[in-house]
Amino acid sequence: YGAKRGREGARVWAPEGSTDSRDRLQTLEQLRVALDTEQLVPHYQPKLDLRTGDVAGVEALVRWEHPERGLLAPDVFLPLAEQAGLMRRLTLRVLERSLLDLGTWRDAGHELTLAVNLSVSNLQDVALPEQVALLLETRGVPAAALVLEITEDVLMADAARSQQVLAGLRRLGVRLSVDDYGTGYSSLTYLRALPVDELKLDRSFVTSLTRDPRAGAIVRSTQRLSQDLGMTFVVEGVEDAATLELLRSLGCDVAQGFYVARPMPAERFLEWLQRHHVRAAVPRQRAAR
Ligand code: C2E
Ligand code: MG
Ligand code: MG
Ligand code: MG
Repeated sequence: YGAKRGREGARVWAPEGSTDSRDRLQTLEQLRVALDTEQLVPHYQPKLDLRTGDVAGVEALVRWEHPERGLLAPDVFLPLAEQAGLMRRLTLRVLERSLLDLGTWRDAGHELTLAVNLSVSNLQDVALPEQVALLLETRGVPAAALVLEITEDVLMADAARSQQVLAGLRRLGVRLSVDDYGTGYSSLTYLRALPVDELKLDRSFVTSLTRDPRAGAIVRSTQRLSQDLGMTFVVEGVEDAATLELLRSLGCDVAQGFYVARPMPAERFLEWLQRHHVRAAVPRQRAAR
């Protein structure tokens, strides 16, 4: 928190915690303003289809363009938004804006899918499927082009209500992905019970892949599990070429990570996409000859 540093003087006399709670209150006020003024914007990170080399889709990752503190990452404000009951609005914001961008890209001929992250309060919100349906219709985006990413802990919270919401989303034809797979509990129980389309293995298993045979074994067996369950197997956190090649040889379907590209604002993503198409076209033409 940048603001905290400016208050170092006050900390000398302030009772433990009170500076923090003032900061929190101030940040919360600013967050409410941000939600009303388009300061919360998605950045986009591409997902690469490892079989074709094409860009399969993008993940929307929310950023806060804070007027004083600059660009803030989600870990700085998502927990606060969750506690303050602002996640429903925040998610709708992200969905609204990213479906608008997706519609534009698809109209320009890029057959992309869009992944949006859901949080615990979204799955408790029985109005969500209807709101998603309306947004898809407004933007002219087919439901199958939308992937909703849900972490294991979110899937496990209040199973009855969240299953109702998941079923509603599924009925629309929206695809569901388990995010940060392997870091939560009861994974096999919900894999059997819940209708999920995609497994997204947590970054922690991917980072050490080229050095750690145990991580390799986990990637291989998760790939096999996904395949047997008819799910797409996605890996996140790919940071170098060696890891990407290894993942390709292990049969991973889709890869995401800094090696492919870092998350970027909408305008830059379109540029990146056009450059990627040009690069990707060269080896494919060679292979055809
Ligand atoms: P996530 O959904 O698992 O997203 C992946 C995170 O890993 C992103 O961090 C991304 O920038 C980062 N990442 C991608 N590739 C690499 C890599 O190669 N190496 C490393 N070290 N990191 C990589 P980010 O954007 O800070 O987001 C953090 C988390 O915040 C997300 O994790 C997601 O759980 C949550 N989040 C982000 N946007 C939203 C949103 O709109 N709604 C909700 N509910 N949660 C969101
Ligand atoms: Mg995600
Ligand atoms: Mg993840
Ligand atoms: Mg994560």
